[in-house]
Parts: sequence; structure tokens; C-alpha cells
Amino acid sequence: MSNQAPTLLSPLPNTVLRLRDSFNSGRTRPLEWRRGQLAAVRRMLVENRDALREALYADLRKSGIESDLTEIGMLIREIDHTLRYLKRWQAPRRVRVPILMGPGTAQIVRESLGVVAVIAPWNYPLQLLLAPAIGAIAAGNTVVLKPSELASHTSSLIARLVPRYLDQSAVAVVEGGIPETTELLEQKLNHIFYTGNATVGRIVLRAAAAHLTPVTLELGGKSPVWVDATADLVSAARRIVWGRFLNAGQTCVAPDFVLTTPDVAARLEPLLTDAIAELYGPNPQSSPDYGRIINDRQFGRLAGMLNDGRLVTGGVTDAAERYISPTILADVDSASTVMTEEIFGPILPIITVASLDEAIAFIGARDKPLALYAFTNSSETRNALLSRTSSGAVGIGACVAHLMVPGLPFGGVGASGMGSYHGGHSMALFSHDKAVLSIPARPDVLGLVHAPYERRRTRLAHRLITRLRSNRKGCNPS
Ligand code: NAD
Repeated sequence: MSNQAPTLLSPLPNTVLRLRDSFNSGRTRPLEWRRGQLAAVRRMLVENRDALREALYADLRKSGIESDLTEIGMLIREIDHTLRYLKRWQAPRRVRVPILMGPGTAQIVRESLGVVAVIAPWNYPLQLLLAPAIGAIAAGNTVVLKPSELASHTSSLIARLVPRYLDQSAVAVVEGGIPETTELLEQKLNHIFYTGNATVGRIVLRAAAAHLTPVTLELGGKSPVWVDATADLVSAARRIVWGRFLNAGQTCVAPDFVLTTPDVAARLEPLLTDAIAELYGPNPQSSPDYGRIINDRQFGRLAGMLNDGRLVTGGVTDAAERYISPTILADVDSASTVMTEEIFGPILPIITVASLDEAIAFIGARDKPLALYAFTNSSETRNALLSRTSSGAVGIGACVAHLMVPGLPFGGVGASGMGSYHGGHSMALFSHDKAVLSIPARPDVLGLVHAPYERRRTRLAHRLITRLRSNRKGCNPS
């Protein structure tokens, strides 16, 4: 026996061990447990709706209705959709076996992964924490949630609520900033789901490499909007303004800049100005529906971009409130900061190009965006954008709204992220699809391909394989 005093250990490794033990006990695998936990998340959201709205208001001055729409309501829809299809998504799927394996059966069996870590950002601090967690729980995993320390009111409320509603042996909240996240990333995890900026995304990937842990990265980028002369410009202006200035522009899929021809730009500028007044009134600072910038650092970064072009409208700031009015910039140099960094705030630059081809080349010369939006009535233009550009998603005639369709995958490509989730895509993401083949001992079909490779048997096997190839379309490719 050692006389050494016990070392003071951080609780985090123990938390992960507790979740792992719980996973290994099998308690999270039955569909009943999963359904019960999803229902408990739903109850937590409904019973604490007011407190959640207040926390979101304190963090981002988010209006109650916007919180319902983009955070609480989205989560409730995600839970309801998941509960509806969970059994179907989890069911084993039979696939055809090749003729050579005739009496055998093959199926894909979905298995849970283990301990999943969800690391969330501050801009939708509730939705981006719990939406991945809903998928991870639905897939039968245990989950450690790491809310963003920058949305501190929401983070501490979640840390209080989760243990009251959810199975504490299977779902834990770890609060904190860089040191806590770094320690979390040092643990052996079975999946890391990270949403945030690409710099930290690289840190997450490097940490995951140590344990060969699979990673999903939900990153950002500059999502372009193409607008052409065939579009209903009044409607386009209204929808672009809503997507850009929602949450004071702090939305990963917000339209980041407008790409259009000079004639359309001249018509669009006053329409965008009108749409801002229509949505937020003559003085957006007094609108209950217009948010604030998360912190002074972000405020300073954004204020520095306001001179990167000709001011069409906006440009008003109030540092005491971290208020930046909805701002449209024109005649913007594509080498300026507002066009080289993701804006992630209430500023919308308009870039003019000579043609659609030039716009496509402009998009292709930059990192692949999280979303690409198009306002056009030309099917040729739509097809050209779809087939000649790459992005996480495409919204035709709508900005941001694709997130609200639970059947659509949500995720980036290239620099905007890897992996996607929501609904059934979350189920696939947080599961391992195990290939299972089962062949009876008799008849001994596999004997045809066993050594010794006699001519006669090998010829027969060869003929069967050739027949299989020509019958390929009868085989379930999935
Ligand atoms: P953030 O600063 O809150 O960071 C995200 C998470 O990473 C936090 O939980 C934080 O604690 C952790 N973190 C920060 N620094 C770390 C470090 N050095 N080591 C380990 N962990 C660290 O949020 P953010 O990154 O400022 O979020 C904004 C970015 O996220 C934007 O680029 C935006 O486009 C992107 N985003 C993407 C999506 C999406 O779904 N694709 C959604 C929202 C935001």
C-alpha cells in the first residue's frame, strides 16, 4: 500500500469513463431507452422555453420568436422527425447475395459507436449543441456535450437542465473554454462532432488522429448569392436580407456576399435598403427582432470592415451595445478583408461580374462554400450553377431555409466541413453500418472456390460469377 496522498484529478476523464462504462453496459442500445431520452430532451425544451429564450436573449439579444424558430422549434421538429422514423432507420437492411453464395443471407446491421463528443459554437448555442446530440442519442450512443463558453448564459442553463432531464450515466455536460476542450479532446472518444471555425477544426482533427477517432467538422466560409435579371428582385431582396441579418448576421449559412451584374446591382441596391426597413423598421437598433454582436472582439473585427466599400445603407455602430446596423456595401474590392474573411456579421457586400460564367469562375477560385444561393428564373442558369459549382448545399429562391427540412443533409464540403447530419443522416453518421454475411454449411457452395483449384470446379465457379455480373442490376447496390 502506498502512503502517497491521492492526486487531485480533473473530473473530465472520469466523466468520459462513466459514459464509456454506461455504453458498455448496453443500456443505451434498446430503442425504448433512446425514445425515452429523446422525449426527455423535448420535455426539457418545452418546460424551460422561457428560461432558454431569456438565456439566448442575454447572450445574443435574440428575439423570443427567432429563438423559437431557429433554436427551440428546430430542435423539437428534429426530435419529432427522429422519433417517427427511428425504428425504420435502425432496422437491419437485407442485401442480395451473389449467386455463388446462394443459400446465404447478407444484411447491414446498424451498431452504435460509443462515446460521442459534441463541441458547439456560440452563434446558435442551443441548436448546434443539441441537434447533433439528438442524432447521437437516437443512434444509441452516450454523449458528452461541450457548449460554447462565449454564449455563457445558454451554456450554464444547459449544464443545469441536462442532468435534471436526461440519464446522467449516459449524457454529460462539460462547460469551459480552451483548457477544458483540449482535455476533452485528449480522451479516447468514438466520434467527435465539432461545429465552429476552421482553425479550431484543424486542432480537433489533429487531436482525433492520436486515437484514430472519426470526426465531423461543421465549419463556415463565404456563401455566395447569385442574382440575375430574370429573378423577382423585390422578393430576392427580402429573402437575402432575412438570411443575412438573422441573428445579426452570425449564421454559418448566411448569404455572405451578392454576385450580380452591374445593371442588376443598380436595381437591387435600393430594394435591399427597402427590405431592411421593412424587416427592421427605420431604426433597426430599436427593433425587438434585431440582434447584437456576441462580444467586443467580434464587434471590433466587424466594425473594421465597414469601410471596405461604398456604403449603400447602414454603417451605424454603438460599441456600448455591440450594435452594428444592417449594412450593404457596393463597389467592393475582392482583395479587401470583407471579401477575404468570412464576415459572420451584419454586412453584405455586392460584387459585380460581367456574366454568369464569370460568377462561376469567381466561386470556383475560392474555398468551397457551406451554401450557394441563387435567385433566377432561368433553368439553364440553375443547371449551370448546380453542375459547375461545389458547395455544402444549394438554395434556389431561398436563403438559410434548407436547414429546416429535416430530410436534407446539413454539412459542408472541402473547407466548409466534412460529414453531414440532421434526421436520418445523423443516424448514419453516429452509427457503424456493419456488414453481416451468413452462409449455412450445406449445400457447400463455397467449396466451389476452395483450393485445390481444379479446372472443372473453377470453370463452373467462373461461369456463375460471369452470370452474376450480367445480372448485376438485380443486386441491391446499397
Ligand atoms: P467558438 O469560439 O464558440 O468555438 C467553437 C467551440 O470550439 C467552442 O466550444 C470552443 O470552446 C471550442 N474551442 C475554441 N478554441 C479552441 C481551441 N483552441 N482548442 C479546442 N477547442 C476550442 O465558435 P466559433 O468558432 O467562433 O464559431 C464561429 C464559426 O463557426 C464560423 O466560422 C461559422 O461559420 C462556424 N459555424 C459553422 C456552423 C455549421 O453548422 N457549419 C454553424 C455555426 C457556426
